[in-house]
Amino acid sequence: MKAIFSSPHLFLVNHYKNIVESNDIVCVIRNTFLSGAVGELPPTEVWPSLWVVDADDYERASKIITLAMVEFNADGPTWVCEGCGEVLILQFSECWKCGGLRHNLD
Ligand SMILES: [Zn+2]
Repeated sequence: MKAIFSSPHLFLVNHYKNIVESNDIVCVIRNTFLSGAVGELPPTEVWPSLWVVDADDYERASKIITLAMVEFNADGPTWVCEGCGEVLILQFSECWKCGGLRHNLD
């Protein structure tokens, strides 16, 4: 099992699960219900997250998700996470990788 994506928005996690599954990769969602530990753990630990069951699928699934993100907002602006440098689409207010918040959007 290996985590490939997490978000505070379950619909997004479901969205990417469907896309990954349509590529014949077995994956599951964890943390469907937020626990009372929010605020004590890093946000990415308690958000709904998508996991590939076979870690060998990780690289492929990760690429599929990145491509899907680009297509999801092909014409839209992106922002770069100050925490880890990940490029994210504007729909995300938090970095899905490290939980960093979006800044400087005036
Ligand atoms: Zn980040």
